[in-house]
Amino acid sequence: MIALVDANNFYVSCERVFNPMLEGKPVVVLSNNDSCVVARSNEVKALGVKMGTPAFELRPLIQEHPIEVFSSNYALYGDLSRRVMETLGMFTPDIEVYSIDEAFLNLSGRGFQAVSQEIRRTVKKWTGIPVSIGVAATKTLAKVANYIAKQQDGIFVLREPEPVLAQLPVSEVWGIGRQLTKRLEAQGITTALQLREADIPLIKQILGVVGAECVNKNETETKNKLVWNRLAVRSCYRWIDPNGIGHHGWSGRMMDKALRMGEISRV
Ligand SMILES: [Mg+2]
Repeated sequence: MIALVDANNFYVSCERVFNPMLEGKPVVVLSNNDSCVVARSNEVKALGVKMGTPAFELRPLIQEHPIEVFSSNYALYGDLSRRVMETLGMFTPDIEVYSIDEAFLNLSGRGFQAVSQEIRRTVKKWTGIPVSIGVAATKTLAKVANYIAKQQDGIFVLREPEPVLAQLPVSEVWGIGRQLTKRLEAQGITTALQLREADIPLIKQILGVVGAECVNKNETETKNKLVWNRLAVRSCYRWIDPNGIGHHGWSGRMMDKALRMGEISRV
């Protein structure tokens, strides 16, 4: 099973590590030129502030609520990220750092709930950063599990995907952005389960996949594949098949390279 460990409101949590007075208060972090919101505390989310909100639009809200506003401090976030990842690395050598605040851990053959609790406790104790952990059979499903963990008490082990996928908006599937969500919804595909059950040709048509598909039976199998997962996040469309296997549609250069490397075959 694969665990996705993801820091909660990472930049805000970093600011709180160095200023515990911010705990429980509404906090936002702005992008490096202070133009828009790049991180929100739960208190700010509750006020309805969306990711990417322009800073000037916050002004009326700041007059009403005691919102703490920070310019981003990437040196600080990078340093804390390294400490979080080092801590995670103590639980398994099989770790893929996916972004500044996310990592996939291979937890094969262990008591997932107990290990996740231990990871969460240790990361908080050693770094001060709260994390959520989603555990499932594939990376795509681990992302889903993490989404649920965030809404619950921070840990979710996804063993039976169907009921969960039936409730999950298609927009929450990894790699399905706003534009693709619109196109899928226009075809009546609104949940992750509907996406999974949909006809492959229809999906190709909607997602604009140009004649290739990849069925990755074991996403953690090779180094190359891990690199692919990371490089391709923008140009790769993923969905989930009935066995919980991640499918990837490649476009343009990515596909050519993948074909050359033997990662996928032409349909
Ligand atoms: Mg995060």
